[in-house]
Amino acid sequence: MITGKTRLYGIVGHPIGHVRVPTAFNERFARDGLDAVSLPLDATPPRFADAIRGLRALENLGGFVVTAPHKQAMVELCDDVVGEAKLVGAVNTVRRDPGGRLVGDLFDGQGFVRGLLAHGHTLAGQRVFLNGAGGAGNAVAFALARAGVAAITIHNRTVARAEDLARRLVLAYPGCRVTVGPKDPRGVDIAVNATSVGLCDGELSFDVSGLTCATLVAEVIMKPEKTALILAAEARGCLVQQGRHMLDDQMDLMFEFMRIGALS
Ligand code: NAP
Repeated sequence: MITGKTRLYGIVGHPIGHVRVPTAFNERFARDGLDAVSLPLDATPPRFADAIRGLRALENLGGFVVTAPHKQAMVELCDDVVGEAKLVGAVNTVRRDPGGRLVGDLFDGQGFVRGLLAHGHTLAGQRVFLNGAGGAGNAVAFALARAGVAAITIHNRTVARAEDLARRLVLAYPGCRVTVGPKDPRGVDIAVNATSVGLCDGELSFDVSGLTCATLVAEVIMKPEKTALILAAEARGCLVQQGRHMLDDQMDLMFEFMRIGALS
């Protein structure tokens, strides 16, 4: 039930039809008896700054999630950028403080790591293959390095992006062995898809035929729930982690950051 006192929480992106945040947030609001609602907000890149100016002006807006393609652009539109967002250069959660001040942080990487740890996987000392050096790839790489993995081999279709991520990662985490390499996950403990390859049924991010059943194959894509990569890894007998855990396990962090519950 929407009332005159309902607090608003959006998710801004373009396109927006595929996002899981409104469903996941609204289920949680209902479960916890909060007078709050989460809405999808479709803003194209040329109108993104206008959309944020409008959101800033809404006194009953508690905050919003930011998704592709706006995570990097959001950094410049925040009044303050904190935590992992500062390190990675991308924002996925914005709190609107009273008066309209916007504070941004990034929880994608922490969500991914929390999801793995919650399912009993070990990260410290592990060797990782990471396909993808976009927004999700950056967030996952920094969070894995912070969690103590021993080595990360980064592959990206556009090599310069992988090289740029590797350079920044080494500076932030000199103890982690970071290399840029081919699209070959053989010999690692954890192989991650952090590209958008797999959003369409049948698209395979990388070949799993050389992996052993001790390898963990992890995905960032949430829809379909089981991507071609997850299905192939399961068929091979590998351990798997689906993309939805990355969001499920960052919701607590997002709620706490936006102070949902404290004000709703
Ligand atoms: P992004 O910044 O636009 O990066 C896209 C990545 O995919 C880049 O590495 C890009 O390579 C690669 N890519 C795209 N098409 C490709 C193709 N045909 N072949 C090879 N590589 C290709 O997007 P993003 O923010 O990282 O998002 C990536 C995915 O992660 C999306 O599906 C998003 O929904 C998902 N995600 C999930 C969560 C979650 O909570 N589960 C959180 C964040 C993101 P180039 O650099 O060469 O273009």
